[in-house]
Amino acid sequence: MRMKKHNRGTGKITGMEQISKVSGIIGPVRSWIPLSLLWIFLSLPWIPHSVQAQVSLRYAQNETVTWQEAIDMYGWLDRQYEEAVLMKAGETDAGRPLHLFVISAGGIFDPDSIRAAGKAIFFINNGIHPGEPCGVDASLKLADELLSGKDPYARFLEHTVVAIVPVLNVGGMLNRGSHFRANQNGPVEHGFRGNARNLDLNRDFIKLDSRNTRSLVRLLREWEPDVFVDTHTSDGADYPYVITLIHSPQQRLERVQSEFLNGTMLPFLYDAMKNTPYEMIPYVWSMDQTPGKGIVGFMDYPRYTTGYTSLFNTLSFTVETHMLKPFEDRVLATWHLLRAVLQFCSTHPTEIREVKKQAMEEKIGRDTFTLRWEQDTSRYERLSFKGYAARTKPSLVTGHPRLYYDRKAPWKKEIPYYKYFNPVIQVEVPEYYILPGAWQEVAERLRLNGVEMKEFTADTVLEVEVYYIGDYNTRREPYNGHYWHSETSVRRENERVRFLAGDLLIPVRQEAIEYLVQTLEPRGYDSFFSWNFFDAVLFRNEYFSPYIFEETAQEILEADPGLKREFEALRSGDSVFSANPYLQLRYIYERSPWSEPTFRRYPVCRYSL
Ligand SMILES: [Zn+2]
Repeated sequence: MRMKKHNRGTGKITGMEQISKVSGIIGPVRSWIPLSLLWIFLSLPWIPHSVQAQVSLRYAQNETVTWQEAIDMYGWLDRQYEEAVLMKAGETDAGRPLHLFVISAGGIFDPDSIRAAGKAIFFINNGIHPGEPCGVDASLKLADELLSGKDPYARFLEHTVVAIVPVLNVGGMLNRGSHFRANQNGPVEHGFRGNARNLDLNRDFIKLDSRNTRSLVRLLREWEPDVFVDTHTSDGADYPYVITLIHSPQQRLERVQSEFLNGTMLPFLYDAMKNTPYEMIPYVWSMDQTPGKGIVGFMDYPRYTTGYTSLFNTLSFTVETHMLKPFEDRVLATWHLLRAVLQFCSTHPTEIREVKKQAMEEKIGRDTFTLRWEQDTSRYERLSFKGYAARTKPSLVTGHPRLYYDRKAPWKKEIPYYKYFNPVIQVEVPEYYILPGAWQEVAERLRLNGVEMKEFTADTVLEVEVYYIGDYNTRREPYNGHYWHSETSVRRENERVRFLAGDLLIPVRQEAIEYLVQTLEPRGYDSFFSWNFFDAVLFRNEYFSPYIFEETAQEILEADPGLKREFEALRSGDSVFSANPYLQLRYIYERSPWSEPTFRRYPVCRYSL
């Protein structure tokens, strides 16, 4: 399957710019060398070898590639093989493009044609946290060896197309240093977690503050991957395993998908890794301080890559290699896992696609969704686990007892794996949401996610369900650029609301159904309300002057004996209230017709015919 490129017989590529052969490592010179000369230059036989040597992988020497080296190497692979293309896929906050590298044995590079050919799409995202670059190097090794035929797993490309984001967080990767990962064993130089705007991109998938994540979301909606893997390095406890795996908790998935994941795919992946030097274990998040008393599952809410991709029924995984293992082992363990996923995709392409299709039917037919989950600490599975004895000794720094893991005292036993969650907040699905067009930042994000909606062509009055925001907690310090809200309570009312021409009517039963419910329901953990998109409704625009309102307040109380009784009860029972005349007048104002009706009224309405 190895072919030099002379004529590129590729399919159409929509929404992305395919990089020409003159970009990449020789990009800087293309502006002044005539194109024809470049073709001659590139066709010289010694060029590929020198380029290959320049970008050779150095993970065995505890080094990771730079962003430029990664792009150069993918560019070189693009020029060498008909089965590979490096594309520019939108912008990043660092001003340099996001790239996508696609390996397609049939030479078809547009996602619709790939799906029509019955192939599975396996999507790998790297460098969201550039301090954890195992996947960056592992993906380069994977691509190089699959395309050259050195890797016998190249045969699995027959039924699967591999799409690789070389580096999502370009700015973080360019910000290279040696002291960003205090708890990590190399590589010597690595990138920084925050992007060019200091955002943690693995919290950005709903709010979409970064151009990086917007570009990736556009890509994901265009490619609709069957399987998605995000590559990381872990923090936390010490134990012998080099590699751990996170997947969406089974309750978050549709039934058919949960059964396929737990019954077929996960056993395959764990078994496959047993046949490598790197046995894999579920992600180790200790129930207690150390894993000895059990580990817990991870609830991947939609802010995370895999939480987001799961909304659209992609089978999604986060790979976390262990921070204290040598970089070479972390790269190789990640590489083995990526190969195992490729093998699985190629040996189950029809099932994967059928399960995804059925899961989408299940999802679109759902009556309720869960907005918040809590760990079920009463239910667990037993997990065979290898650990190190956790002990304490006096700290020579603080004088207090300190934790340490004794690697000379390994243990193996069954520990509880608390992988179940219980729903805390559920909501029933309306037929439509109505989003006033004024909230254009939200509308823009819905469009980016492929949501289908219609504009009202004339002003229209409808009887709808509206929410009034009650209590909520707000973080005291900004979290990823936002004062994130949580624990939001709402009151629901039926009201006649006047919508304007241009407001957006959004049918809920479409492929984005769960995305819509999780983002537009204000109590959603990662809703647009939680991420501050609707904070303006929490502000009271109009007010009253106490000395002018005195007479009106008196008339209101006289006309409403019930209100007067409540008012007097508060005055006699609440000393703060009775000592504060302004509070008393405000109490009456807020219950009067002059109090603005849209204060705290959440703008997105629920509408059912
Ligand atoms: Zn990470």
